[in-house]
Amino acid sequence: MSRTAISKKVRFEVFKRDGFNCVYCGAHPSETVLLEVDHVHPVAEGGTNDMDNLVTACCDCNRGKGAELLTSVPQSIEEKAAEVQEREAQIRAFYEILEARKQRRDDEMWSIADIYIERFCDDGILRTRLASIRTFLDRLDYYEVQEAMETATRKIYSKSACFKYFCGICWNKIKREVGP
Ligand SMILES: [Zn+2]
Repeated sequence: MSRTAISKKVRFEVFKRDGFNCVYCGAHPSETVLLEVDHVHPVAEGGTNDMDNLVTACCDCNRGKGAELLTSVPQSIEEKAAEVQEREAQIRAFYEILEARKQRRDDEMWSIADIYIERFCDDGILRTRLASIRTFLDRLDYYEVQEAMETATRKIYSKSACFKYFCGICWNKIKREVGP
């Protein structure tokens, strides 16, 4: 079985690269979902264990639900224990990634807010404005949002007009990316 043939290190590298997402159905590790590594080019046809040939797949997508039901063999106690351990390790690693992603997004949001705060020598920024910055970061690259804020703070001298101008630049960028 592919799961035992690939080392834990490689397996988790593949999971991380794919964001702990089953590439077929998008499932994340949970109490009911166990992730496995699937060979894009099957081993039987000469596929290798190189990262390039491996993708994250949930158990159901990897084995095919129907086939699993027909051929399922009772697990030994050791196999069950190993599966529980694997499941817990996957859930833990997945949450670490989510937490790191959230932290990074917070840092990015504040570094853009700081450009605005410093420009107007303020102590803080309205919560709604922070929320706007976060929305733009969800839809644009960090550097695009940063550039928009730098342009707005350079051009506009009134505080609220400046933020409006910043939002305008960002929405235009989003529209351009989505297309007409
Ligand atoms: Zn799946």
